Amino acid sequence: MALIVQKYGGTSVGNPERIKNVAKRVAKFHAQGHQMVIVLSAMSGETNRLIALAKEISPNPSPRELDVVISTGEQVTIGLLSMALEEMGIKARSYTGGQVRILTDDSFTKARILDIDGDNIRRDLDAGAVVVVAGFQGVDEAGNITTLGRGGSDTTGVALAAAIKADECQIYTDVDGVYTTDPRVVPEARKLDTITFEEMLEMASLGSKVLQIRSVEFAGKYKVKLRVLSSFQEEGEGTLITVEEDKNMEQPIISGIAFNRDEAKITVLGVPDKPGIAYQILGPVADANVDVDMIIQNVGHDGTTDFSFTVNRPDYDKAIKILEGVQAHIGARAIQGDRTMAKVSIVGVGMRSHPGVASRMFRTLAEEGINIQMISTSEIKISVAIDEKYLELAVRVLHRAFGLDQAPV
Ligand code: ASP
Ligand code: MG
Repeated sequence: MALIVQKYGGTSVGNPERIKNVAKRVAKFHAQGHQMVIVLSAMSGETNRLIALAKEISPNPSPRELDVVISTGEQVTIGLLSMALEEMGIKARSYTGGQVRILTDDSFTKARILDIDGDNIRRDLDAGAVVVVAGFQGVDEAGNITTLGRGGSDTTGVALAAAIKADECQIYTDVDGVYTTDPRVVPEARKLDTITFEEMLEMASLGSKVLQIRSVEFAGKYKVKLRVLSSFQEEGEGTLITVEEDKNMEQPIISGIAFNRDEAKITVLGVPDKPGIAYQILGPVADANVDVDMIIQNVGHDGTTDFSFTVNRPDYDKAIKILEGVQAHIGARAIQGDRTMAKVSIVGVGMRSHPGVASRMFRTLAEEGINIQMISTSEIKISVAIDEKYLELAVRVLHRAFGLDQAPV
């Protein structure tokens, strides 16, 4: 008998039929004697609908009231699933975040979980009930409803699993696991049986949207055994996210390829090559809450240098405007940009122990005539910024070059 937390995403509870299917799956585990805690998202599209509704009333709604509105989607699904379980003769009780007492800070729309009181849940489990908890929401010290940011139900699931010391946290979604890359781009992409937390964090932050990144951080920190599975398949082990690399297996050098289309590049030309220039350029950009990703400062000549960086495409116009505003002040000759960039990253803990990974990546792209405009690396990833029109090609050739088409031996 195990204590299992299962989290079901919006598509898995998208209509009454699917909610009944979730109930059947939960009933199966329950019948095997497991104690079950279920965390739900709102029905797919519901949170977007609620946000749009709020915006029709107020273009800039008060974050507190926005959370009151957008937290309702999950209240609907938990009630419905509990009813479906009761219809099958299984005792079930639903809880909103506040009812569990998932205590958060008061940063409405992006609150962080501070503490979870698991007493109600344990009492119900001991009485043989299935506990159904609303994802994505909590309550602050003053009793205000808060939400955890888009995709936050994953974080609820993992945080609950940590709080009640569950044996496993299973995230049921519309894909059957974590893939080497997006199968829509590379049909040969393979499902991974395991991936390390570190790799998963890189994949998530680089645009692979299987799990909310905070849930992965949380699971790594509290050593929650985390598994991603499909709610539309009866069988399948999904992908297990592991703390340690499996020492028994020959690790592939690269585990996956992540990419992001929505990048843009900005270059500040001919700035004086002197201390403080990076700060003068990026300070105002950061003050405007624009995230900067890759950064390059070239070697100076004649006392001036060029400085380039990437931003998310939606922030491009804002960033350009800010820089044009400070151009005279920092003494830049010109501001240039390209709003159609993409980022491709190879990720793998194996690259720590294998030299030559970067050169293989660069050679592969060179052979296709793909120009690398920027490069950034960490211990377990190498990212390049390229023209967006070569994105698919780049991902495909890299997938093949690193042997990801074939199952590891
Ligand atoms: N319903 C929320 C959202 O759409 C939370 C979640 O599904 O994880 O972002
Ligand atoms: Mg989700």
